Amino acid sequence: MPALMGQMMQMPLLISSLIRHAARHAGDTEIVSKRVEGDVHRTTWAGIEERSRRFAQAMARLGCGAGDRVATLAWNGYRHLEIYYGTSGSQLVCHTINPRLFPEQIAWIANDAGDRVLCFDLTFLPLVEKLAPHLGGVQHYVLMTDRAHMPASSAIANLLCYEELVDAEDGRYTWPEFDENTASSICYTSGTTGHPKGAVYSHRSSVLHAYGSALPDAMDCSAADVVLPVVPMFHVNAWGLPYSTALVGCKLVLPGPHLDGKSLYELFEAERVTFSAGVPTVWLGLLTYVQSNDLKFSTFRRTVIGGSACPPAMMKTLQERFSVEVIHAWGMTELSPLGTLSKLKAKHGALPREEQQRLLEKQGRVVYGIDMAIIDDDGHALPWDAKASGNLVVRGPWVIGSYFNRPESPLVSVDGEPGWFPTGDVATIDADGFMQITDRSKDVIKSGGEWISSIDLENIAMAHPAVHEAAAIAARHPKWDERPLLVVVRKPGASLTREELLAFYEGRIAKWQIPDDVAFVDELPHTATGKIQKLKLRELFRDHRLPA
Ligand code: ADP
Repeated sequence: MPALMGQMMQMPLLISSLIRHAARHAGDTEIVSKRVEGDVHRTTWAGIEERSRRFAQAMARLGCGAGDRVATLAWNGYRHLEIYYGTSGSQLVCHTINPRLFPEQIAWIANDAGDRVLCFDLTFLPLVEKLAPHLGGVQHYVLMTDRAHMPASSAIANLLCYEELVDAEDGRYTWPEFDENTASSICYTSGTTGHPKGAVYSHRSSVLHAYGSALPDAMDCSAADVVLPVVPMFHVNAWGLPYSTALVGCKLVLPGPHLDGKSLYELFEAERVTFSAGVPTVWLGLLTYVQSNDLKFSTFRRTVIGGSACPPAMMKTLQERFSVEVIHAWGMTELSPLGTLSKLKAKHGALPREEQQRLLEKQGRVVYGIDMAIIDDDGHALPWDAKASGNLVVRGPWVIGSYFNRPESPLVSVDGEPGWFPTGDVATIDADGFMQITDRSKDVIKSGGEWISSIDLENIAMAHPAVHEAAAIAARHPKWDERPLLVVVRKPGASLTREELLAFYEGRIAKWQIPDDVAFVDELPHTATGKIQKLKLRELFRDHRLPA
C-alpha cells in the first residue's frame, strides 16, 4: 500500500518568511543601531522589511540574479540586516566576510566564493581600496552610507552609495517562492590550518536553526526580550540572532563598531537590553569596565557565551555579582553555529548549587536538530560516562554535509554508520547528555601518553584574582614529549609571580597536570573571531626552555 501523504500546505521554509512575519506581527518593534557615522539610528522590523525589498530590487537592477554572491564587510547595523534579508530573500547568497582577517585571506575568500558585489561600511573603505585590485570577480562596490558621507574620490571606480541605491527603488517587490534547499548564505571557517573553507547554508537549514536556537533550552528568545548581539554579524551570522529575533519579533539593538566596555554598557542601559551573546573576550572588556566603575546592569538578565570555553570565574562574576544568567554554548561555523547549550533538566533541581554549577559550566546538551557522539580513533562510539573522552562528531539538518568548492567529503562513520561530521573537538558526555569540551584535538597537551586539558588549566588560572587572561599550551619536554606552559596576562596593577600562580593549582587539579612553567606577557594574540591564537603562541614559545 502506498503511504498516506499529509495534506498540509506546502510552504517552503524561506528566510523571507522570517522578515515577513516580523514585519506583519512585530512591525512597530524597534531595531536600534549605533552607526559607523557616530549617531544612533532607529527603525522597526517593518522598516527593515521594506528597505530589504528595495535592496533586492537594487541588486536586480545591477544585474544580479539567483545564486549570485553578495559579500559584506560590515559591523552589526540595520543596513547589514537589510542586506541579509534583501539578498537571501531574493535568492542571492549573502556572504559575510570577517574584516579582521588578513587582507590576503579576505581576497582569497572573496575569490573562492565568487563574490559579485561587495557591500562595506565606511570603516573598511581603506581596506577595500587595497583589496579591489585583487578581487577579479567583484563587479560592484557598495559603500553602506548616505551621499553626505561618500568620499570625494576613491581608488574604486564607480563606487556606489547604498542609500542612493535603496532610495531609487519603489519597494514594489514580492518575495519570490523557491526551493527551501537553495543556498541562503556562506560563511568561511577561520582557517587556522590551511585555507578557510566555506559553509553554505540553505534557507531550510537557517529557518530550522532559528526555530531551534530560540527554544527555552537554547537561547530562550521571546518577544519580551531586547536583544543585543555583541557577536558580529560577520561571525557565523551572529549565531543566527538576526533570524531568531525576527522569528520571535523582539527588539534588536546593534552596536556597530563600538564594542569597548564603556560603549556596550551605555547601550545596554539606554536601550534596556535583557539578553546578549558573545565570545568570552568581549565579556572580559565589559566586566572590567563595569567592575572598575562600580556599575550595575538594570535590565540585563541573560547572556549566551561561547565560541571558546567560558571560564567558570567569568560565569560566577556575571551570575553572583550582576545577577546575569550565563548560558554556556558550543558550536562552530559548520553547525550554523549552534550545537549545545548548558541548561539544567528538572531532575537537576534538587542538586546542591555547586553540582548544578558544574553542569552549567559544561558546553551542555544538544538542541533538537543536532545529534552527537564521541568516538575513538577507530571510529567506535565511546560511553557517555563523563570520563571517556573522544573525538566529537555531530549530524543534523543544520550541519554541513560538504564544504563549498571541495569535492571530498569531510564526513566519517560511527560504528560503521556513515554521515557524521567530525568537529575536531575532544569531549566527554555524561549520562544526561551534557557534553564537555576538553580541547581542540590539535591543542591537547600530550604528556607521557596522557592528555591534559588546556581548557581545565586555563579555567583555574582565570579563577585567580590577579589573572586577566590565560592560555595553556604544550611546550616540548625531553622526557614527557609535551608539558603544559601557561601564558598569562596579569590584571592591570596586579602583582603575581610564577610560584604564586603554580601554588594556586595545588589541590585544584592532579599534581602531574600542574603546568611546568608560567610566562607573563602584556597581551595574548587573538584570532579574527576573538579566540586565543594557540598556533601563534606555540610558535612564539617554540624554544621555551622549561625548568628542569
Ligand atoms: P565560531 O566561528 O562559531 O567560533 P569556529 O568554526 O570558528 O566557530 O570555531 C568553532 C570551534 O570553537 C569549536 O570547534 C570549538 O573548538 C571552539 N568552541 C566554540 N564554542 C566553544 C565552547 N563553548 N567551549 C570550548 N570551545 C568552543
